[in-house]
Amino acid sequence: MLISALFLMTSALSPLPAIPAEPAAAVEPAAATVCPVCGKSIEPGQGTKISLRGREYIVDDTACSDQLMTDPDKFLEPDGTPKNAKK
Ligand SMILES: [Zn+2]
Repeated sequence: MLISALFLMTSALSPLPAIPAEPAAAVEPAAATVCPVCGKSIEPGQGTKISLRGREYIVDDTACSDQLMTDPDKFLEPDGTPKNAKK
């Protein structure tokens, strides 16, 4: 009797399984960055650092770095913020 009462209480308190609307940003380490070209997350210490218009960007591979250097306006806002940066 006591056990079933406890079970009922716990069930009532358990949150319903959340429907994952989008990947939780909170899981990502604060230091991780995102490739401005393909949007892939890059762990600290990984990726390639490139300088462009006086700012530094980290891309995940040379293909992305080539794209960014070739056509920066496609991936960067006029102020230099990557277009896919989280607001
Ligand atoms: Zn990339």
